[in-house]
Amino acid sequence: MNIDMIREYKELSIFLLKTLQGSLSSGHDSGKVLSSLHESLVSAANASQIKRIHKQVKALLIKEKPVDVDRLLASIQQLKNDLLFQSNVENDLHSLVDELKSLLGMALHQIEALSLHKEESRKLFLECRDDLKNIAALSDMKRYVVKFKRLFSVSIILDDETDRERDELKKIITILADSISDLLLSSGDFDSGLDECIERLQQARTLNEVQEIRELLLQQTKGLQVKTRQLVADVQQSREQVHDANKQVEILKKQMEKVKQEIIIDPLTRTYNRRAYDEKIKHEMAGFQRYGRPTALAIIDIDHFKKVNDSYGHRTGDGVLRILSDVMKKEIREIDVLARYGGEEFALILPHTPYQSAFDVADRIRRKVEASRFTYKGKPFLVTISIGVGTLKVDDTLESYVERVDQALYRAKDRGRNQVVGEDD
Ligand code: GH3
Ligand code: MG
Ligand code: MG
Repeated sequence: MNIDMIREYKELSIFLLKTLQGSLSSGHDSGKVLSSLHESLVSAANASQIKRIHKQVKALLIKEKPVDVDRLLASIQQLKNDLLFQSNVENDLHSLVDELKSLLGMALHQIEALSLHKEESRKLFLECRDDLKNIAALSDMKRYVVKFKRLFSVSIILDDETDRERDELKKIITILADSISDLLLSSGDFDSGLDECIERLQQARTLNEVQEIRELLLQQTKGLQVKTRQLVADVQQSREQVHDANKQVEILKKQMEKVKQEIIIDPLTRTYNRRAYDEKIKHEMAGFQRYGRPTALAIIDIDHFKKVNDSYGHRTGDGVLRILSDVMKKEIREIDVLARYGGEEFALILPHTPYQSAFDVADRIRRKVEASRFTYKGKPFLVTISIGVGTLKVDDTLESYVERVDQALYRAKDRGRNQVVGEDD
């Protein structure tokens, strides 16, 4: 509208100039000036140029004073006022538009500082930025402001969202970073880079910063994953090795147990051997000396065993030794120790046993052996045993103790065999 008015005013001014020229006598100096002013007016582009020409025209007219100049001057003044009014409005509008433009530019700058990571707001922002340069008039401005308002609202909402997102992300990453550092600490492989990440995260203000840290952490996590996988594989391998080792240990334990047994067990009779006897009797003596715990000993010898061998052969003799051992084992307690003491001699250690009880056990055994059936080629034969019984005394040594019981055994032999004789008998 303003441009139209300027054009109109321009045309009117030209018309007036032409009229002026016509009213001046040809060859007049002022005519030339008017011609050049006319040319300037035609090429005038804006109101201020026209205003300048008007001034010159006015000065010229005052100097020449053509006919009816007052009327002409009045009309020019009117036009000038109109023009000035318009020009002021125009200037005001321009300055308003410029003012608004710079304000919008500043606002855009603010918006750009917000996180515009979403496609929609980014696109809108770029459009607004480009359109701002092209605003010439208030009408452009009005259209622009609608778009700008949309961008602003979208950005503000997004900013709230991104704030929340950033905080959420911050939380998740902090937890992640903490767990990674715990894991690293526990694996003794702490990485100082991670420490730095956590610290940076605490200070992060924008989503971009948080996202950068997230990327960094992601890399660290990947590294850690590889390490962890390796660790898991190592642990698995170790576990298998431990399992294998445990199996081996179990096998070895069984073997050792067997060996141990073999070391203390007589292979023919499956009673304890002399070595076990030696240990057990020393143990019993220690118990007696320390706690006054009574202990008894019986020495058992097969009567006329030589005859068995002689009559039925050595193998039958071995068989007799085995059967006899089984019969005796059935008559004793778990804690009692029956050991093959010599070729056809046995020792029976009876812990926690006073003399009379030991004697009774020995005699029960003797009777059981006597009552047992032994056969050779279907023919039965008798096997008897003689037993000497004694208990450990305060002044005893191992030798004196065994000797006393041995003497009792000899007495049993002397008195006709197949009997039990006590140390005092
Ligand atoms: P006594 O009643 O006086 O004890 O007479 P005995 O014949 O039993 O005693 P002696 O010491 O004269 O003979 C023991 C015999 O025991 C001699 C030996 O051949 C036999 N003997 C020792 N150890 C074994 C063995 O492991 N197997 C067999 N078959 N015989 C054995
Ligand atoms: Mg003997
Ligand atoms: Mg004998």
